[in-house]
Amino acid sequence: MKVKLLRYTADAELLCGTAALTSTKSGSPSEIFENMDVETAKRIIKRVTGYGHVSVIEHASFTFSIEGVSRAMTHQLVRHRIASFTQQSQRYVTYDTLEKYVTPQSISENAEAKNIFDETLEKISESYQKLLKLGIPKEDARFILPNAAKTNIIVTMNARELRHFFNLRCCARAQWEIRETATEMLKQAKKAAPALFENAGPSCIELGYCLEGKMKPPECNVEEIKKHFKEL
Ligand SMILES: Cc1cc2nc3c(=O)[nH]c(=O)nc-3n(C[C@H](O)[C@H](O)[C@H](O)COP(=O)(O)OP(=O)(O)OC[C@H]3O[C@@H](n4cnc5c(N)ncnc54)[C@H](O)[C@@H]3O)c2cc1C
Repeated sequence: MKVKLLRYTADAELLCGTAALTSTKSGSPSEIFENMDVETAKRIIKRVTGYGHVSVIEHASFTFSIEGVSRAMTHQLVRHRIASFTQQSQRYVTYDTLEKYVTPQSISENAEAKNIFDETLEKISESYQKLLKLGIPKEDARFILPNAAKTNIIVTMNARELRHFFNLRCCARAQWEIRETATEMLKQAKKAAPALFENAGPSCIELGYCLEGKMKPPECNVEEIKKHFKEL
């Protein structure tokens, strides 16, 4: 898996700081923006979002390339509706080699399971090629492809949606592949605009408790999770 922050809004923190001050200042947004500095922006964003006025951080967008992940993962990713996606199409791109699938660790470290997995995928790959040779269009041959099939996707989210996405998908209850993807996205977004992603991560970081109730994984310790994401 490769996750790369391709582009993000220039001066993202200054812009969101300007938005945060615009509602309470008499000056124009352009004047506020010209006089804004990162430390002030950081302070104002923290204060205003703390009141629940989180829309001010919607002015900053982040675009990621997510490569070599499974269709099982992207199916979960695209459930996030306040985002834009562009995914490699199985109608146009041929699924042609056996390296084009993701193997979960639970399967790769179990020899018997790995055999079953590899044999099945090899069979699928052969059958897919046979269908194409029979003149079946790619858009129909793909019906036999597995959830493990690798794909590439571009996603753009604003900072508010990203924080919400991290709340849900950096959590230990999220599936491992989307959790790894989300955690890497957070790492890169935080480096680009730390003021927008302070305390970002699974929801327990801000809440101080686990929303999952009885489903809380026994290994979860809120203080350790806080520390881990702070040092990310
Ligand atoms: C651990 C885990 C397990 C899951 N298991 C399942 C499962 O078994 N089956 C399943 O189908 N899904 C499952 N999901 C997906 C989940 O139900 C959501 O579809 C997904 O997480 C997107 O979350 P969202 O709707 O909050 O976010 P987004 O779509 O990113 O939306 C962000 C926020 O915008 C608001 N919003 C967006 N659209 C609307 C709308 N139409 N109306 C009102 N408010 C809106 C909401 O406040 C929402 O929280 C799971 C998710 C997680 C994290």
